[in-house]
Amino acid sequence: MLGLAPKWSIVIRVLQILLALEIVSFAFTTIPTVRHSTSFNPVFDGWLQAGGYITLAILALLRPVKIKAERMVWIWISAGVIARSLAFVIYLAIIKNLKPIPYPSISDAGWLAMYLFLIIGMVTLAKNRFIKLSTSLVLDALTVLFSLLSIATAIIFPVLEKLSAIKVPVSAIATNLAYPVLDITLLVVIVGTILAFDWKPPLYLWIMAACTVAFAVVDTIFLYQNATGTYHPGTILSSLSLLATALIPLSAWRWNRSTISATRITIPGLTIPTLFALFSLGLLVYATQVRVHIISVILAGGGALIAIIRTVISFKTIRLSAQHRKEARTDDLTSVANRRAFNEMLAEALYSPTQSKNFAVLIIDINDFKSINDTLGHHYGDELLIAVANRLSHVMRTGDLIARLGGDEFGAIINDADSESAEVIAERLQASLRTPFTIVLSELEITASIGIAISPSNGIDPVELLQHADLAMYEAKSRRIGICAYQPEHHQAQKVRLESEKRLRQAIECGEMEIYFQPQINIIHNRVCGAEALVRWNHPKLGLLTPGEFLPQVENAGLMPLLTLTVMRKAIHQTRLWLDQGRDLRIAINMSVINLLDPGFPEAVLEALEQQGVPNFSLDLELTEDLFMADPTRAHRAISELASHGIGVMIDDYGTGYSTLGYLQDLKELRGLKIDRSFVAKMDTDGRASAIVDSTIHLCNSLNLVVIAEGVENREIHQQLVEMGCEIGQGYYYSRPTTADKFEFDMAKI
Ligand code: C2E
Ligand code: MG
Ligand code: MG
Repeated sequence: MLGLAPKWSIVIRVLQILLALEIVSFAFTTIPTVRHSTSFNPVFDGWLQAGGYITLAILALLRPVKIKAERMVWIWISAGVIARSLAFVIYLAIIKNLKPIPYPSISDAGWLAMYLFLIIGMVTLAKNRFIKLSTSLVLDALTVLFSLLSIATAIIFPVLEKLSAIKVPVSAIATNLAYPVLDITLLVVIVGTILAFDWKPPLYLWIMAACTVAFAVVDTIFLYQNATGTYHPGTILSSLSLLATALIPLSAWRWNRSTISATRITIPGLTIPTLFALFSLGLLVYATQVRVHIISVILAGGGALIAIIRTVISFKTIRLSAQHRKEARTDDLTSVANRRAFNEMLAEALYSPTQSKNFAVLIIDINDFKSINDTLGHHYGDELLIAVANRLSHVMRTGDLIARLGGDEFGAIINDADSESAEVIAERLQASLRTPFTIVLSELEITASIGIAISPSNGIDPVELLQHADLAMYEAKSRRIGICAYQPEHHQAQKVRLESEKRLRQAIECGEMEIYFQPQINIIHNRVCGAEALVRWNHPKLGLLTPGEFLPQVENAGLMPLLTLTVMRKAIHQTRLWLDQGRDLRIAINMSVINLLDPGFPEAVLEALEQQGVPNFSLDLELTEDLFMADPTRAHRAISELASHGIGVMIDDYGTGYSTLGYLQDLKELRGLKIDRSFVAKMDTDGRASAIVDSTIHLCNSLNLVVIAEGVENREIHQQLVEMGCEIGQGYYYSRPTTADKFEFDMAKI
């Protein structure tokens, strides 16, 4: 109990039991007809009643002495309880035996002191809690206050009127007035403190409020009886007084700090003020039948009016909070539901007793969204997501939900669905995405991967269902099959995938990536003028892997930036070694779009060159045309920056991408083009390919761009290129890509 030493726990328990016994026995003696006489009974009204007050005073005293929590508050509360108890004991032992009984007496001082001490205790408790007071809370408090005042005045005014009629001394009238005034003040302060707890106070505050009401009733009646000489000891009123006084220290020992929060009574915000507003209304109705003091009527009217204003404000607040609720559950970008709404509906579908548990969870992920986004730029990437969300939401049936879970991932909850109907809907979702999207005035085709998990067979809680739908989606993505329903085997597949990603990173970081070099030949002067660095994975088990066999995996795992940097560092290092041997070659490195859009990339390139002391103009970066398609501004900025430092930027695979001649005109910083091998390799057999190459060479010559023909596979092609005035050639005819130590510089050997 309350973290007390066991010895003290026993003492408190014994005192509590003793007090309970005293209250019950005393209360029994006050039941009408139990006693033979209405006069003071020394055993019951003397020993028993006083014993009860003494026991409860000891309990009250021990609370702040033994317990640190809220000690200051309890010093005051206990002081109040002790004052009231002592006042009773003194009254029973001394005052009541005096003839005539003095009024006011020392006991009145004790009884009145209780109110003061309790008021100070409440203020101490509430002081730190008044942080934010909403208008509604203040109006609630006013409703309660007006209602209490109206009821209290309605009861007390007639009593006072009666007393003043019997001619009593000033000190007695002052004491008479002090009781109701302090009673009401204490009630108001308690209500204020409860308000400070946002109507969710510790239980002892509710008990104290109830006890204060009891004090008000008991004291007013005692007052009346004393003044009119109708007082009798040992009535039900005495029991009520003892009980009300005892409940306060009892509640202190019953609930400690941690259990206070656990046992806090949560009453819906509007209940209390509504109840008091009803009291006020009730009093107004009562006043139409029976004479009630005008002040009470005004106060009751005020209480009811404030309650009406409060209700109007409440409606507004409810409307606003409904709007906030909607906003909090909507995705800002696409205006479909967000992850929070999705999770809520999923939990509802799973746990609501009225809903069918047969439903499907779908995870929809756009394939290659990252590179689409990088290529388009974020603004157009967002536009695409909005359009996708719009199409997906049109497929949904009423009652089903589509939500954006984050990035390019959407989730759907399909009610009353089995695996077959879920697949039908997944098919429809796929179909809705099939029509190309018009973004930046061009048509963009996308595909998506959809994973399906069915409740309850694939999972019985939200985490499991989502995880399984996610796994199925990954399966659909990695096998490029579009739609996949969850199977337990997917766990294994996912494990393999994760392991392969881990393996790939390890391969890059631990030097399993090797660089092969393919010479670039100046076919006009017949000499090796440069080399393209081409990556190979020297796999310990699978042998030498070409880029086509592992680059897509690298891209998917987001490891492209790491790979490019590794290749670049190695290639630049090799260039340094060649420079030291007196061989001056340009080195060409392939880049992915992601590299160029990374704002830190130019700096990383310059740093790698500087570290090896390789001149910037010895480096060519090869980019594909896709970059210019959608985000020309970013592409232009990055290329300008690299070119301003003397680095050459070449367009790779020219003729295969989204070729537009526009960028050739705009991008004055371009060093040149590499005509794609698909044209060059066919020059000897395909006249049209030959014509394309020829015109491209002319175009480059007149734009002052360097032109490299890649895919020169035989002498005939080489000869044609020489005749066409092509400056540089690269291809198997001269050399296949080789390791640095087998790289040939001598044209005669090539
Ligand atoms: P690419 O940049 O167009 O590289 C030229 C590719 O054509 C190389 O294939 C090369 O071996 C091949 N090739 C060279 N001469 C001939 C020829 O006469 N006939 C034919 N049919 N092919 C020839 P590889 O090494 O398999 O590279 C394929 C692609 O992988 C490269 O195309 C490039 O886009 C990418 N790649 C290679 N290394 C890297 C790298 O380090 N980083 C990045 N991002 N991509 C790389
Ligand atoms: Mg290349
Ligand atoms: Mg190429």
